[in-house]
Amino acid sequence: MTPKTRHERSRELFAQAKLMIPGGVNSPVRAFQSVGGTPRFMQKANGAHITDVDGRTYLDYVCSWGPMILGHNHPAVKAAVLQAVENGLSFGAATEAEVTMARLVCDLVPSIDMVRMVNSGTEAVMSAIRAARGYTGRSKIIKFEGCYHGHFDALLVKAGSGVMTAGVPDSAGVPKGTAEDTLTAVYNDIDSVEKLFDENPKEVAAIIIEPLAANMGVVLPQEGFLKKLRALCSANGALLIFDEVITGFRLSLTGAQGYYGVKPDLTTFGKIIGGGMPVGAYGGRRDVMSTIAPVGGVYQAGTLSGNPVAMAAGITQLKILRDNPEIYERVNRLGERLYTGLAGIAEKHGCTVNHTGSLGCLFFTNRPVTDYATAKASDTVRFSHYFKKMLGDGVYLAPSQFEAMFLSAAHTEADVDFTLNCAEDYFRREDDF
Ligand code: PMP
Repeated sequence: MTPKTRHERSRELFAQAKLMIPGGVNSPVRAFQSVGGTPRFMQKANGAHITDVDGRTYLDYVCSWGPMILGHNHPAVKAAVLQAVENGLSFGAATEAEVTMARLVCDLVPSIDMVRMVNSGTEAVMSAIRAARGYTGRSKIIKFEGCYHGHFDALLVKAGSGVMTAGVPDSAGVPKGTAEDTLTAVYNDIDSVEKLFDENPKEVAAIIIEPLAANMGVVLPQEGFLKKLRALCSANGALLIFDEVITGFRLSLTGAQGYYGVKPDLTTFGKIIGGGMPVGAYGGRRDVMSTIAPVGGVYQAGTLSGNPVAMAAGITQLKILRDNPEIYERVNRLGERLYTGLAGIAEKHGCTVNHTGSLGCLFFTNRPVTDYATAKASDTVRFSHYFKKMLGDGVYLAPSQFEAMFLSAAHTEADVDFTLNCAEDYFRREDDF
């Protein structure tokens, strides 16, 4: 039997991994838990393609969950990393690269006066929440059902992404008290937010939101929703935090905030500003960021934060994005082709496609998907059949209904058309799967 059908090496590695790593993976959605089967162990990636340990190459719509917007192993990013490595891997001391990175982020995103680098999206969110609490002297946080903000205790409440895929509304191991100050509202339902402000006067430190939700599938903010959140925060003395770990430098050079024209007080970024290296950042208003140690009393630190190799990758990627605006035109045009194509194929089969720019999601439900409850109504069994058929055809999708598809500038029109043909074939023969 050919490796094409057997993926033998992946199987072997998965069996070994399960003995030593919980679930065999270092992050839950990689485990193919909701779709079943053997996760593909990956070996290398280039451009829009990723190759597994059995030598099979896939067209990649995961793009490392977003950061590879230029495509995998971009020559300029790789060269910058190799050059940085020549000088040493980590100093635990201030570097010029960190100043360059901070200047880039502050120059590109108008709401950001100051920024602090961390090592992951989770850390960025955790730190931004601490800053918001420190600045306001309040404890409560409003989040939205189905939004994922990393595995930070206080925000593992009605979270999206792997939490939603695993059907665990609230994680075990989170002390009751830790999550007590987390209030949950309904995405796109401004009344649910107003109610929480009314019930908790002068107690809410911040609202945190994915300005375009991409962890319950892709759910778009309805017209005016983000602006109303902005107004509610200002009226109630709470900060507005945009979690742009997915949307930052992807929806546009100014992220979702530029795209929708709403200015948050704080913003969190993740993987995309590391160009594939482990990076996160949080930043925003100077007065709020001035509460962070060593200037202010909000403590936050990190041995590897601002790591020189990670900075080299991130700076190079951000400069390429800044200097080549046609990249956004390109990925957005590809997005339009892919997602309107998918809608044309799938909507007559009881599916719904949500998309903006290069981010999109095919939901196996015929009702509009506007929040957690409507996303949750999707038929995950149908999704798993679709996922497996696409994987068999060489199209690597995120292994969960509740994740986005990511395009890169390395994808081509032909790649998109190939994907659409595979999808069309699935729906034509859906009963066979
Ligand atoms: N916020 C959002 C919006 C995310 O999508 C993610 C992860 N995909 C995180 C935070 C957490 O980032 P990380 O996995 O790097 O900790």
